[in-house]
Amino acid sequence: MATAGKVIKCKAAVAWEAGKPLSIEEVEVAPPQAMEVRVKILYTALCHTDVYFWEAKGQTPVFPRILGHEAGGIVESVGEGVTDLAPGDHVLPVFTGECKECAHCKSEESNMCDLLRINVDRGVMIGDGKSRFSINGQPIFHFVGTSTFSEYTVIHDGCLAKINPEAPLDKVCVLSCGISTGLGATLNVAKPAKGSTVAIFGLGAVGLAAMEGARLAGASRIIGVDVNPAKYEQAKKFGCTDFVNPKDHNKPVQEVLIEMTNGGVDRSVECTGNVNAMISAFECVHDGWGVAVLVGVPHREDQFKTHPMNFLNEKTLKGTFFGNYKPRTDLPNVVEMYMKKELEVEKFITHSVPFSEINTAFDLMLKGEGLRCIMRMEE
Ligand code: NAD
Ligand code: ZN
Repeated sequence: MATAGKVIKCKAAVAWEAGKPLSIEEVEVAPPQAMEVRVKILYTALCHTDVYFWEAKGQTPVFPRILGHEAGGIVESVGEGVTDLAPGDHVLPVFTGECKECAHCKSEESNMCDLLRINVDRGVMIGDGKSRFSINGQPIFHFVGTSTFSEYTVIHDGCLAKINPEAPLDKVCVLSCGISTGLGATLNVAKPAKGSTVAIFGLGAVGLAAMEGARLAGASRIIGVDVNPAKYEQAKKFGCTDFVNPKDHNKPVQEVLIEMTNGGVDRSVECTGNVNAMISAFECVHDGWGVAVLVGVPHREDQFKTHPMNFLNEKTLKGTFFGNYKPRTDLPNVVEMYMKKELEVEKFITHSVPFSEINTAFDLMLKGEGLRCIMRMEE
């Protein structure tokens, strides 16, 4: 490739300061170093995590920075030592990685790679502690090892899932973060049996993906729980059979669910980030066999409080990170589920804008409109 080994000048959306609109700038992207890959991003989507780190409220401010982690692209060139990816391969970048060598990667039960596990404060590459982005010599920081709000980006090869080149990147790009998280929480961790009753707390993109998992698993009753009544209409498209708004009841929502289901739900998946919803999601499961799975990220000071008797009564509590998927090993199979038309991703994509209108995507998310907004790089 003509560009391999050279600096590439391209457009990127730079966050100069917390909470200030991103500005499209010409950046220089250095060639990939050992174990790194330079990727041409074709489509990227906006996820809440980008917004949290852009606002930087209660987060370490790292600026100027190129955000973005939900995307699809094509390998432009590879650095020394990269053997399983080559120019032209279609890839999904992932905010967490799989080195395939650490104890976690070798364990069938874990996806929390020691080397490449998400690190939100690091703004540089792991290899040499430097950034690959610059503007007139000033380094611009990376974000969660992906920085997909750029036409070209450099990513550790352990954070790239090589996928079927036939898969449409403008659709499957949403599988690189939130959708796989919710889907995997249900399919890999809650594992509802066919015909079971599943409660989903929080009907944002992650919760609706968890709901899609319940639909795929053949749950016969899917109860959506959200404090925002407007979420029910959209949830019906994802198989929601019943809706409960905790605010409509003058008793704890777990009691409402236990009454509705004659003893409790078989499985529950919490996708709110609210600690009280987490407690409700645990306590509403059936004794003897019920399993609750926590997905939402709580506040720093939160404490989970429940009576230990709930555990003795054989209710199980679990949590998950990225839906327990190993990025390189498992994501290509999630893409295949879409290719076989088992999994539907189109219904998560509610908006699409050219990359130059990236601030529109931020506005939509701040207003809570839609689920995913795709940004098209080539326009
Ligand atoms: P979102 O804000 O779009 O959706 C959250 C929903 O929860 C909203 O509809 C809101 O009305 C509802 N809600 C809030 N408090 C509630 C309560 N007490 N009871 C019932 N409903 C309530 O968020 P999202 O993008 O769908 O993400 C959901 C959560 O998943 C977030 O906490 C996010 O940080 C987390 N997350 C976790 C992982 C992981 O690997 N564990 C990965 C990605 C995202
Ligand atoms: Zn590892």
